[in-house]
Amino acid sequence: MRRRNFSTLLAGLAGLTACGGGQAKEPARSRKPKMVKIVEFSADGKRLGTVEVERVVKTDEEWKQQLSPLAYKVTRRKGTEIACTGIYDKHYEKGIYRCVCCGTALFSSEHKFNSRTGWPSFFAPIARENIETEADFSFGMYREEVLCKRCGAHLGHVFPDGPPPTNLRYCINSAALVFEKAAP
Ligand SMILES: [Zn+2]
Repeated sequence: MRRRNFSTLLAGLAGLTACGGGQAKEPARSRKPKMVKIVEFSADGKRLGTVEVERVVKTDEEWKQQLSPLAYKVTRRKGTEIACTGIYDKHYEKGIYRCVCCGTALFSSEHKFNSRTGWPSFFAPIARENIETEADFSFGMYREEVLCKRCGAHLGHVFPDGPPPTNLRYCINSAALVFEKAAP
C-alpha cells in the first residue's frame, strides 16, 4: 500500500515537472486573460470602434508554419532585423501597418517619420490599446519592448528620443508588420 502511494506520488511529481517545464517556457502567456480589448481600423486609418476579441495563442510549430523564418525569429523569438534591410524602412505610402502574426492594426503612416536608424519609426502607435510594453533588460541595458496586444508578437522597442508631439520613437521591425494601403 505504502509502495503504491509512493509510485502515485512519483507519477504526480513527474506530471508536475512536465507542466512546470511548459509554463516556464512561456510564463507570460499562461497568466494573461483570454480576452483582450483592441481598436479596429480601416486601411485609411479610420477608427472603427473597440472590440473584445480572443487573445491569439499558438504553438511554436504553428507560428513556424504560418510565418517566414525572419518574421518568426523577430516576432516569436524577439529578434531584430538588420538595419536598413526591412521592406518598410523607407516606405511612406498612406495606409496602416498590421501585425504579421494576427492582423491587429498597430501603426499608421500618419505617425511614421524618418529616424535615419534603418528601422521603420513611428512617434505613436495607431491606438495605445493595441500594443503593450514591457521592461527589457537584455544585452545589459534597459529598453522598453513593444508587443502586439492580441498575440504577444515582439515588434521592437520604444525610446524617449522621438519627435513631437509625443517625443517617442517606436523603433519597429518591418518583419513584424504587414502594410495595408489606403484606398486612393
Ligand atoms: Zn499580433
